[in-house]
Amino acid sequence: MRKLLPSLLLLLNCAAITTSLAGETDILGYDAAGSAAQRALEHRLDMTIDAQEMSEWLKVMSATPHHAGSAASKANAEFIAGLLESWGYQVEIAEYEILLPTPRVREVELVAPGTFTASLREDSLAEDPSTSRREHLLPPYNAFSIDGEVEAELVYVNYGIPEDYEILERNGIDISGKIAIARYGKSWRGIKPKLAGENGAIGTIIYSDPADDGYGAGDVYPQGPFKNESGVQRGSVMDMPTYPGDVLTPGRGATKKAKRLKLKDAPTITKIPVLPISYRDALPLLSALGGEVVPEEWRGGLPITYHFGPGPARVRLKAEFDWNMVTAYNVIARLEGSQYPGEWVIRGNHHDGWNHGAADPLSGQVVMLAEAKAVAVLAKSGQRPLRTIIYAAWDAEEPGLIGSTEWAEHHADELKKHAVAYLNTDGNSRGFIDIGGSHVLERFFNQIIEEVDDPRSGLSLKERRRAYDLIYAETDKLKAEARNRDDLRIYPMGSGSDYTPFLQHLGIASANLSFWGEADDGSYHTLYDTYEHFTKWLDPGLKYGATLARVTGRAALRLANAPRLPFEFKGLADNVTFYVDELEELSATMRDETEKTRQLIEDGTYAAALDPDRTLGPPAEEPAVPYFNFAPLRNATDRLEVAAEQYDAATANNTVASEEINQLLYTSERLLTRDAGLQGRPWYKHFLYAPGFYTGYGVKTIPGVREAIEQREYARVDPQIEIAAEVLNRMAERIERLTTMINSKR
Ligand SMILES: [Zn+2]
Repeated sequence: MRKLLPSLLLLLNCAAITTSLAGETDILGYDAAGSAAQRALEHRLDMTIDAQEMSEWLKVMSATPHHAGSAASKANAEFIAGLLESWGYQVEIAEYEILLPTPRVREVELVAPGTFTASLREDSLAEDPSTSRREHLLPPYNAFSIDGEVEAELVYVNYGIPEDYEILERNGIDISGKIAIARYGKSWRGIKPKLAGENGAIGTIIYSDPADDGYGAGDVYPQGPFKNESGVQRGSVMDMPTYPGDVLTPGRGATKKAKRLKLKDAPTITKIPVLPISYRDALPLLSALGGEVVPEEWRGGLPITYHFGPGPARVRLKAEFDWNMVTAYNVIARLEGSQYPGEWVIRGNHHDGWNHGAADPLSGQVVMLAEAKAVAVLAKSGQRPLRTIIYAAWDAEEPGLIGSTEWAEHHADELKKHAVAYLNTDGNSRGFIDIGGSHVLERFFNQIIEEVDDPRSGLSLKERRRAYDLIYAETDKLKAEARNRDDLRIYPMGSGSDYTPFLQHLGIASANLSFWGEADDGSYHTLYDTYEHFTKWLDPGLKYGATLARVTGRAALRLANAPRLPFEFKGLADNVTFYVDELEELSATMRDETEKTRQLIEDGTYAAALDPDRTLGPPAEEPAVPYFNFAPLRNATDRLEVAAEQYDAATANNTVASEEINQLLYTSERLLTRDAGLQGRPWYKHFLYAPGFYTGYGVKTIPGVREAIEQREYARVDPQIEIAAEVLNRMAERIERLTTMINSKR
């Protein structure tokens, strides 16, 4: 720590300078007088945000389990609606009829050698009274697993991600007809049964290894925040990278009368049964595995030697569900804009949880409520936002972003016309500000985090995050950049929360915000995600919750009041160029690696180096990677960069605007989408950001091109480059048009 001191002092100095400068800089889209008025408004916003009140709401809403379809979920929706109504919002509860399976039979049994029956139950703890409130508690299960009963030899597949299957293949292990046991982590959970099924497995068990978020990582609950031996992560395994939302109504709102697929035709339900288990239940299964010892990276934290199998462990797995239709209750609260009621700033956070859901989602829900209350107080005192603000508390996010997706699909035409931006939060924690989103908003958010202070260090959120990036960023390039680039990059979004239908289906500029990085936590989607756990280990006193409300409140109000919408394109152009660089590097590296591997196989090096008494063989020989033509993308990014520079020059020191200019600004994100959507998954229409088809939540930027390269579908690469270039050229053309309009009015 001592070594870091000089640079930290330097940062403190920088922070002081940045903050005082920031006070004088105009807010993007505002002139000097407008900036001063807006900052005065934000000062009053801060005064209304009350961490104590947020903590009380959190306690009320997390008192009992409140999963979608439960009475408690409906009660929470009504509680939220009541608050919003009392503050003066026009509130409606938008209902959708959705398919939501809940478990009827869950059985996991070792049938040989020896026998063992998994308990599939989490322990109540005397130290945490919430864990004894188990009425309506959903037991551990994976939603949208298909029904089934299977018995077969067990195979350990590590995290069950594509590179793990390469290792299995090199060891000659075929998982067809077997049951795969995978550990949680490294991918979104739904990828594990998807890949296991594609590789021929007939069932999947997912467990939490103690090395990842149990005793191998730190003290377990209640002594510490990590997962104890009975904790099980629940969660959806619906094939969300194909489409999220109600499985029966892709692309349309799940209203009562909506046309529905038959259950047997729903493509996003898993092909094989899946159940999640604790490490206490996993131990007898894994210790009964034989076969070769796994490589070092595959070993977890259980006190056993990890083997691949298959067998001699034989396991029976049975999962049956009630495939019920339930009602999802979205709370939609509207504050009509005083000048531009047809321009909507939408702000959302889900309210359903798997269990008590204190961290996920209620820690974010109370951020949104605190912000909504503060905005309403300002409106009542005569400071009504110019544009309409819509606060949305979504239901049924956990089983598959269902409430938000159905609402977005149901109102798709209006939203494409009216939505200025969508701002999302979900569970919050503490530490460093973390912002993902559309890069047209990168500068906008950088300005905000320069002006809000970290609640403990007193540094601005931006300087604190910059310090983190300087020390911990993944690559040297990113570390260097943290010092030299004015704006911190916001990360590109894949999936994992309610922004997905707005961004990737409708092309609405979106963002997702939270604090993260300093709280350890193994409670995610377990019985232990309680008020007690959250307020002790994640955000005591909700200091970071209140800070997040100041950030999101500024974002909503600045978007709602800006004379000219604060979209900016230099950040976009720079990030897009960064992704194109990555794609060229990726294809060059893959070409070199493929060639190197081919040589080592063909000249006998692998055969000479590998131990003939062990199962590990050489990697598979892949076809050579051809050269691709990146020129169309390079030309498009050049044009985008020039257009962004010119827009920047045209907009400096003026707030020239009109309804037409603002409309052209906020619909610019739509140009990054195409109606036909991505290949094989037309629901996803954004050509810059998508969740990975084989990573789930993890983002793939310029996904058409990137996934064609990664999946070695070489013939698709050049056509996908043409499509991505066309999309970027349309964006550049829009920016050029805006510049011309603004210059003509100056
Ligand atoms: Zn959540």
